[in-house]
Amino acid sequence: MSGQVCRKCGEPMAAHDDKTVRWGDRRCGRGMHNRCYQRELRAGNATAYPRQLRPGVEVIEDWTFLAAQNLTRRAAAERMGMSLGALERAIHRHRSTERAS
Ligand SMILES: [Zn+2]
Repeated sequence: MSGQVCRKCGEPMAAHDDKTVRWGDRRCGRGMHNRCYQRELRAGNATAYPRQLRPGVEVIEDWTFLAAQNLTRRAAAERMGMSLGALERAIHRHRSTERAS
């Protein structure tokens, strides 16, 4: 247990990689549960929460979630509060990193 509480609902959060609890109960990058974070992201409120981890990783997390809902890159970038170009650079960097590892 990470000892942190969710900034959205105030409940304790498990570590983001703790496989002993449900995915939604684990910590997400912005100090919220995955489930709370996804609710905020879906509502377009995620940009109200400052990022806490490496920005590139969180951009990819956001993008993966939004892409699964069939949002275009442009629409996803708007939802995430960033420019289309910034999103495309983040995706490109992420893919480069994956090839290297
Ligand atoms: Zn929560």
